Amino acid sequence: QALDQIQALEPRLHSFLQVTTDHALEQARQVDARIAAGEDIGLLAGIPIGIKDNLCTKGIPTTCASRILENFVPPYESTVTQKLAEAGAVTVGKTNLDEFAMGGSTETSAFQLTANPWDTSRVPGGSSGGSAAAVAAGECTVSLGSDTGGSIRQPASFCGIVGMKPTYGLVSRYGLVAFASSLDQIGPFARSVEDAAILLGAIAGYDPQDSTSLKVDVPDYTQYLTTDLKGKKVGVITETFGEGLDPAVEKAVQGAIDQLKSLGAEVREISCPRFRYGIAAYYIIAPSEASANLARYDGVKYGARIPDAENLMDMYTRTRAEGFGAEVKRRIMIGTYALSAGYYDAYYLKAQKVRTLIKQDFEAAFEQVDVLVSPTAPSTAFKAGDKTTDPLSMYLIDLMTIPVNLAGLPGISVPCGFDGQGLPIGLQIIGNVLREDQVLQVAYAYE
Ligand code: GLN
Repeated sequence: QALDQIQALEPRLHSFLQVTTDHALEQARQVDARIAAGEDIGLLAGIPIGIKDNLCTKGIPTTCASRILENFVPPYESTVTQKLAEAGAVTVGKTNLDEFAMGGSTETSAFQLTANPWDTSRVPGGSSGGSAAAVAAGECTVSLGSDTGGSIRQPASFCGIVGMKPTYGLVSRYGLVAFASSLDQIGPFARSVEDAAILLGAIAGYDPQDSTSLKVDVPDYTQYLTTDLKGKKVGVITETFGEGLDPAVEKAVQGAIDQLKSLGAEVREISCPRFRYGIAAYYIIAPSEASANLARYDGVKYGARIPDAENLMDMYTRTRAEGFGAEVKRRIMIGTYALSAGYYDAYYLKAQKVRTLIKQDFEAAFEQVDVLVSPTAPSTAFKAGDKTTDPLSMYLIDLMTIPVNLAGLPGISVPCGFDGQGLPIGLQIIGNVLREDQVLQVAYAYE
């Protein structure tokens, strides 16, 4: 059914960089065989799933939507896709993204534009836009994305589905192509909070192959999905309202907050005064880490290499010049500059200090409330091409999601209504470290 839907919709949506039909049918046959042999596989048995194309899949090309990895076929499997295969999920394809997950609209992909299923002249958000569009359009039941500054929550908001970024370190990043290692986290897209909870349970957990992986037990997240919010303390982040917020988004989020009250939650306003420095700190830290992580694409070990190099340096420089797109180059240049001797203290170190201050705002907030809420994004999905000539305006869409990555916290986006043009709006719910239970419960009760 998923493959049929893909065949019918891909000519308009372009959610997938690659549809893995044969691989999916083979995985499905294996699940059938396991069931026939009496194995109790669990809830993900036979469930069609889309995988963001920055997650390594053994024997299946993994491009990060970049020319520099166009011919890269990983010799190993990421931990999350390995776990999903064991849980019986069936991978139907690799989904489109902004090149190396750098962007907020999936438009920096070197290969194709993905359309928003609600209005195909608009973007699906990003960077995990393909994963979000595929789930929203029923091309797969659930999917995986990665979230460094909002790349799961923002496209979930733009596509009217649920998207969750777990606590930093809860899900192994082994096999996720690194963008900004201190921020990257893998998480689920789904059409319901329950499905997201099931998928999170399947991918979370300690992994010795990822040095930042947390040694914690993974509970059955579905046990927290209750509808009673009596006594639950919800903080509304003051700084996420006001100037720059689309009035339709404000109205929908206010409506959601009223509904949380009527479900028994105690709602109060909470100020996070340093929240607004999140973008500035992120756009030093993320490009700095990216500039180091992307140094490995030199034409020697991975993917593309220019054919007629005169010498080694010529091979490096021309491979990178031709292999990376404009946004990736911009990040590498910003990062290299911010890390260079003489500028390190003024930029990188300063940004790390600001990151600590933002973390402290959250710590103070969570002494008073169980979860925080805000809009997921300041607007609904915009038209393709609207922000491509102005990188700053693209960066600003992640105003509300970035601080959550800087502090390593769990956050979810759940649909909370539509604007006047019928475009979906998302409510962001943020929890304290490892309080996925609280985040999922409030999201489930609201939904
Ligand atoms: N839009 C942000 C950026 O371009 C976040 C991307 C992400 O979370 N991968 O860096």
